Formats: sequence, structure tokens, C-alpha cells
Amino acid sequence: MTVWLRGDHLVRHRGPVARRPDERVLLVEAESFARKLPYHPHKLTLVFGAMRRLRDELREAGRTVHYRQVGTFEDGLTAHFETHPDDRLVTTAPQADGARERIESLVSDAGGTVEFVPDERFCCSPEQFDEWAGDGRYRHENFYRFMRRETGYLMDGGDPVGGEWNYDDQNRETPPADWSPADPPSFDYDDIVHETAAWVEQTFAGGYEDPPYGGDWADPEPFRWPVTRRQAVRALDHFVTHRLADFGPYQDAMRGGEWAMSHSLLSTSLNLGLLLPDEVIERAIEAYEDGSVPLNSVEGFVRQVLGWREFMRHVYRREMPDLATANQLGADEPLPELYWTGDTDMACLSDVVDGVRERGYSHHIERLMILANFGLVYGVEPAQLNRWFHAGYVDAFHWVTTPNVVEMGLYGAGVFATKPYAASANYVDKMSDYCSGCPYYKTKTTGEGACPFNALYWDFLDRNEDQLRSNHRMGLMYSHVDNKDEEEWNDIRERADEIRTLAERGDL
Ligand code: FAD
Repeated sequence: MTVWLRGDHLVRHRGPVARRPDERVLLVEAESFARKLPYHPHKLTLVFGAMRRLRDELREAGRTVHYRQVGTFEDGLTAHFETHPDDRLVTTAPQADGARERIESLVSDAGGTVEFVPDERFCCSPEQFDEWAGDGRYRHENFYRFMRRETGYLMDGGDPVGGEWNYDDQNRETPPADWSPADPPSFDYDDIVHETAAWVEQTFAGGYEDPPYGGDWADPEPFRWPVTRRQAVRALDHFVTHRLADFGPYQDAMRGGEWAMSHSLLSTSLNLGLLLPDEVIERAIEAYEDGSVPLNSVEGFVRQVLGWREFMRHVYRREMPDLATANQLGADEPLPELYWTGDTDMACLSDVVDGVRERGYSHHIERLMILANFGLVYGVEPAQLNRWFHAGYVDAFHWVTTPNVVEMGLYGAGVFATKPYAASANYVDKMSDYCSGCPYYKTKTTGEGACPFNALYWDFLDRNEDQLRSNHRMGLMYSHVDNKDEEEWNDIRERADEIRTLAERGDL
């Protein structure tokens, strides 16, 4: 028997590797995986660097590790079963749609068998979620409360600690001008990681950075994500000690040049299995219990990890394959090239896209209210934006981008989103400092120099009126739609068309 650790399931301290200490371990590093999309180089350095470091750590701990650097998974498995005929592989159940069947058939073609064990990277099992969800529509808030009760996290008997399920009213603050977030942690990497980064640069040149995707390539910043369990634990500790207290109040705020704000930067470690959600949640709750972090911050953070992350994973599992191509609004615009180049005068979009190009990351509100919001009101086809997110982010995997981009960001399916997150410059201005340094006028909707978000926002409501007007959560928005006369609508439509033309020409 062999424990097969796949590149996005690098759980070492629990799971099959820990439970079967005497079994050999297989890791297959398949180059073809890295060519499926034009991935950000940091994402490839992260996954391959973490695999190589784990190989070495396990060997140092006395384990037998077969590390196969091959073209495809098929090559790796064929090579494995040639040396170990009839072997049985034990591996974690995969998240990606159809992956289980693909693995089963690859293994059986190569002459072996495979056993799937539960994925330790999540708290809520498929059975638990299915029992909770039944056949009904999903509501995140109900799921989150269910998970709080199931786990007992932040519970006082049957009631939430502090008496409230959420503290959102304390968590939408704008930081004062003299506030600055604690610096994110940095890590000392050994030769393996440096060599991996150089190999990625050489081997995959022509991916993320090249036309037609990227135009002129701006050098990414140096790689900065945890690649080992030890580094991930340090990152968690650093977050809880230095950043968690401010996470709550400022979690929705955006500030030009402050790419991390007080966000945890833990998604890569959670998604790769270097950290597990229960230990992350328990560490945050400990900080509340010892009085070092206020409840609104800890609850806000627990909601993200125990609520949203688990919820998205199961929505994906249940709604695929339809979710990947869902497009209930019939949006069919191609993705503007500025998503790859960052080449636009819009201060918000340009800053956020540049951040993705430099480090493969932006925080949640930038993802939702700048990048996805622009795609939504512009009318980008959801699958195209999903592909862009999947390629460009260090923490992106199909199971997590698809529900976030297609559904939460672009309202593609209506399986859990109750309305589209469409917003105009007013929202961007309220939640960020972008508009003050932007050549576009945030208060103008039409005419030269008007912020593109404004005309696109009204045009979006107009174009999708048949589907959205009857949604009671859109009532206020449509009451403003009704206040505009035909002349205004003509100007709005004209400006929206002009914006699309400018974007297509690379002149926005
Ligand atoms: P924090 O803000 O510190 O939040 C803590 C943790 O909560 C995160 O690390 C993450 O594990 C979890 N979390 C919070 N919200 C979500 C959510 N909606 N879905 C899943 N997990 C969540 N998350 C990814 O892990 N990979 C992605 O590719 C990804 N793409 C996204 C695309 C869009 C359009 C949107 C709106 C959200 C996306 N998210 C994705 C969710 C969320 O934005 C990121 O998890 C978060 O920004 C990661 O940064 P952080 O670790 O600093 O998170």
C-alpha cells in the first residue's frame, strides 16, 4: 500500500500520511498540470515548492518517498505501478468535479487500485452538509449557524457567545487616516524554493505573462507564501498576534497601496492543507478567550473559515457541472484585456489588477467589489472571468473560484446569491480611497471622464430588468431606475457602449 499525496492535499500532521506511518509515500509532480491554464508563476512555485519541501521533510523523518517528476499523472502512475505491480493507493477524496472518476480510471489503467479517504481540509463532511441542506436552496447564514452549533465554536450552550450571531455593524469601518496595518510576515526560504522559483520562470515562460494575456510583463514581486507546515503555523501565529484585532472592523475596507490590509493571508495554507480549518479557528478563539482580540474580529474571521469556505466547497460539489457554465443573465462580453494587463486609468481596477500581477493575491472586497463587480456590470461571460481568477491567484482552485466568481461575483446561477453584488462608484468611494486619486469623476455618470462604474451599473440594471425587477431585494435600486427619463437612459446606454469600446481598444 502507498499513500499518494496530491499537490493540493499536502496534509502531513493528520490524514493518511500521519495515520499510516509505516507506509511509503508517493508524490507525482506532473508538468501538464501546470500547463492547463496560464497560471501565475507564484502559484506554481507555491504548489511545486511545497511538494518538494514535503518530500524532503518526510525523507528526513525516515519515510520512504517516491517523488516522480513527469509529464502527466498518467506517466507518474504508470512508472509507480511498474515498480510496485498491483499496489493499492490511498489518497484523499478530491474536490474538483469529476476528479475522482478520472483518478480511478488512471489508476486502473496503470494496473492498480485506489482508496479515497475523507478530506481533512474541511470541517463539514458531505453527509453532514447534505443532511442540513436537503433539497432546498442554500442560505449561508443558516449554514453558518448550523456549523456553530455542530462544532460548539463561539457557543455558550445553545446561544452564540456575546448574544449575537454576527457583529457586522461593527465590521464595516473605514480606518482612520493615520492607521496602518501590521506588516505581513516574511519567510526565509531554502535552496529548494529558490530553485523551484527559477525553474518555474524558465519552464513556464510564455504562460501568465505573455500576449494575448498579459502584454508587457511587469516582474512579479519576490515570492512570499508559506510552503511548509512550520511556515504556515508561523503565519497563523503572526496573524492572530498582530492583525486579527483589526481584521473585523476593517475587513470591508480598501486602501490603495495597502494590498493586505488586516486580512489573514491564510487561504493558500488552508487550501493546500498546510493548516487545517479547525486549528485556525481554535487559535483565533483562544485569542478572544485570553482577552487579546475583540469578539467582533474573531467572530468575523470564524464566519469566513467555518461559514463561507465550507459552504462554497459544498455548493460546488452539489452544483457542478452546471455551475461552471451557469449564466442566467446571459452575459456574453469577452473578458477585457485590462484584467491581464492592468492597463486602465481607473485607479481602483489598475491598482488591484497590478497587485494580482505582482503577487497573485488581492483581498476579498477587492475580488468581489472591484474585479467581479466590474465584470458583472460590464457583462463579462462568467466562465471567462472564472478562468482568469483561477489562473491568476495563488489560492485558486476550481472548487473555490467557481462558486465565488460565477455565483457570488457574477450572479450566474442564483443557487445561493439572493441578488447580484452590483455597485456603482458610490460604493467604491465609500469603502476605499481610490476615487480621490482617479482621473475619472466618481459623481458623473455620463459624458467625458465619467466613472465607468456608473453608466455600466445603470446599464446593467436596465439590460437585466426582466430578471431582476421582481427580486424584492432589488426594489430600492429599481425605484432609482424609475426616476430616470428617456434622455438620461439614452446617454447612459451610449456611455456604456463607449466604455466597452474603450476597453476593447485598451484605452479605458
Ligand atoms: P481572509 O479575509 O483573512 O479570510 C479568512 C479565510 O476565510 C480565507 O483564508 C479563506 O480560507 C476563507 N474565506 C473567506 N471568504 C471565503 C469565500 N468566499 N470562499 C472561500 N473561502 C473563504 N478564496 C480562495 O481560497 N481561492 C480563490 O481562488 C478565491 N477566489 C475568489 C474570487 C472571488 C470573485 C471572490 C469574491 C472570492 C474569492 N475567494 C477565494 C474567497 C476570498 O476572497 C479569499 O478566500 C480570501 O480573500 C483569501 O485571503 P485571506 O486568506 O487573506 O482571507
